[in-house]
Amino acid sequence: MAEEPAFLCDAMLGGLARWLRAAGYSAWFDPHVADGALVRKALEAGKWLLTSDSGIQDRHAVSEGLVRCLFVPRGLSTVEQLGHVLGSLDLPLRPSRCMDCDGELEAVEPAEVAACVPPKVRRVCTEFFRCRVCGKVYWHGTHWVSIRKRLARARELAGRLQGGAGR
Ligand SMILES: [Zn+2]
Repeated sequence: MAEEPAFLCDAMLGGLARWLRAAGYSAWFDPHVADGALVRKALEAGKWLLTSDSGIQDRHAVSEGLVRCLFVPRGLSTVEQLGHVLGSLDLPLRPSRCMDCDGELEAVEPAEVAACVPPKVRRVCTEFFRCRVCGKVYWHGTHWVSIRKRLARARELAGRLQGGAGR
């Protein structure tokens, strides 16, 4: 895919939005957005609309194919949802974005973020990242390792989906 896709998630897919960001893809989510406004936003911004809501699929712009829309089956775990999206669109894992706000992360020197990091972490971690938008600091600690493990699991599910679909 030439252009890296960006996503809009419907009101039921907030967890998926956070994990798409961790997988490196821009994902917008607002639990209070109305269906019509969501579809219009996808149309105007040229973004992929992710939905588990058949009502949204029936909207004119979606059923006519004017909006790129991917249906996310209900009853999947968040990791399975992510695997479904990565597999359906053949997307690799990319450098993570901020899970909270969708901002890009930049690598920073440990000294720059020392005030935001517990001393125990400063002793064992050497790589730090800061969100360019909200300023949240991330580091490659045990929490990060468990996030990357879940991302790898989603990518593995995606591979299986692609193999199974015979694409
Ligand atoms: Zn952020």
